[in-house]
Amino acid sequence: MITNVLDWLDASAGRLPDKIAFGDEHTTLTFSQLRELARRGGSYLCRRVQPRQPVAVFMEKTPECLAAFFAAVSAGCFYVPLDTKMPAERIKLIFDTLHPAFVFCDEKNAEAARAVAGQAGCEVFSAACMTEPDEAALAAVRADHVDTDLLYVLFTSGSTGVPKGVTISHRGIVDWADWLHGTLGVDENCTLGNQAPFVFDNSTLDIYSTLRSGCTTWIIPKKCFSFHKTMMRFLREHAIDTIFFVPSALIAAANSGILEKDPPTGLKNIFFCGEVMPNRQLNMWRRAVPGARYCNMYGPTEITDVCAYYIVDRQFGDDDPLPIGRACANTRILILDEEDKPVGPGQTGELCVMGTCLSLGYYNNPVQTEKAFVQNPLNSAFHERMYRTGDLARYNERGEIMFLGRRDFQIKHQGCYRIELGEIETALLAVEGVANGCCLFDEAKDEIVCVYTGGAEEHDLAKALAEKLPGYMMPNRYVHLDRLPMTINDKIDRVTLRREHIG
Ligand code: AMP
Repeated sequence: MITNVLDWLDASAGRLPDKIAFGDEHTTLTFSQLRELARRGGSYLCRRVQPRQPVAVFMEKTPECLAAFFAAVSAGCFYVPLDTKMPAERIKLIFDTLHPAFVFCDEKNAEAARAVAGQAGCEVFSAACMTEPDEAALAAVRADHVDTDLLYVLFTSGSTGVPKGVTISHRGIVDWADWLHGTLGVDENCTLGNQAPFVFDNSTLDIYSTLRSGCTTWIIPKKCFSFHKTMMRFLREHAIDTIFFVPSALIAAANSGILEKDPPTGLKNIFFCGEVMPNRQLNMWRRAVPGARYCNMYGPTEITDVCAYYIVDRQFGDDDPLPIGRACANTRILILDEEDKPVGPGQTGELCVMGTCLSLGYYNNPVQTEKAFVQNPLNSAFHERMYRTGDLARYNERGEIMFLGRRDFQIKHQGCYRIELGEIETALLAVEGVANGCCLFDEAKDEIVCVYTGGAEEHDLAKALAEKLPGYMMPNRYVHLDRLPMTINDKIDRVTLRREHIG
């Protein structure tokens, strides 16, 4: 029985010591090197912190940063990745909640890390790794471990701007990586190309498939997401056959025209999660790489990345919405109406999740935890936790789950029309000449505001939308931008858009 992700690291390092576990354009770490660094860094920490304390990691996105995560875990602690580009103000907000016991940094960020560390100890990770492994201390920590111990805490932005720390246990990740192996067949023969920042839970697919199954993950340099020719070269040079990207990254590649010129035909698995994937751009990918398997995954950070998936198995028109499919194994999804009753076919409700995948709540935040993690309203016999995602969904005629949008994106327009902004967005993204975009609602003016990029002229866009949408769903205002602001997770940054275009 696997109860600790380090059991996988030990096994993979034993079986495949010299295989590259993680690499980027500059460095690589084999499984045995990764394990050695984790044990050295862990031994250093054992003398300075107690098990089950938070260790913040303030490092660039490198293989070494992953070694620092596993060093924290080797000391029985949980890691908290921080984005090095995050403003000091925001880190301060996070630290006020987290109270880290220690901060690992790299040379480049040492000064900034020391400035924010406060009472916590702070050390450059490579310096900590000068410590010889302390077998007795590491073994004692392992013996005391249970699988509900926290593995990591990821701070989400939260729509209010106040970061919430989502806690995830070893158990949640063991379940997730086992599912990836068992259902999607991510195994030792896969070579993964990582896009997701480590502060974003999508990265756990790459990190923990690698640990669990002994595959290799190559961190794709950020510049490749703007220069797609470079991306194609990187994918080819490293024989990458599996990617798990946020849809915006796939959309940008499709819009760049690279798929026709230089299709990444080496890709066997094209997985995506995090936002709606429009079928227009998905169809471009499907035409360019017809042999690949495409999988739309859905899930918030609070349920260990993914709780529903749909392997694309049929043709879709450019303006059809793509299902998010069915619950992953060992996961239960309920769609509940406003009275907390399961919805009937075709009815809309809130998507709620139960199972091992659930977070243990928001770190040091009982108020928000109680709001989101509630008793299953269909069970009054015993304590059964359920996570309310805040997302709206319905079943289609095939019994597949269709994502409709955030509950807060459901608007009341002209006093009577209940509209999912997501439905307008699906129509928008299918329009020729629209590269990407979204819709916002200006409550004060009762206006639907359509923000988009691409070459489409406003009146052509309005004409195209009028062919697909009823009048009451038509945007009242259009904002054309050269670039959309993106969050650190590379999703469209709606908070910034609201501030700049609605006020
Ligand atoms: P995060 O916690 O940052 O991963 O964001 C989770 C949210 O992203 C979900 O609650 C959804 O609103 C959205 N999301 C995730 N996956 C999908 C998907 N496949 N399709 C549409 N929206 C998604």
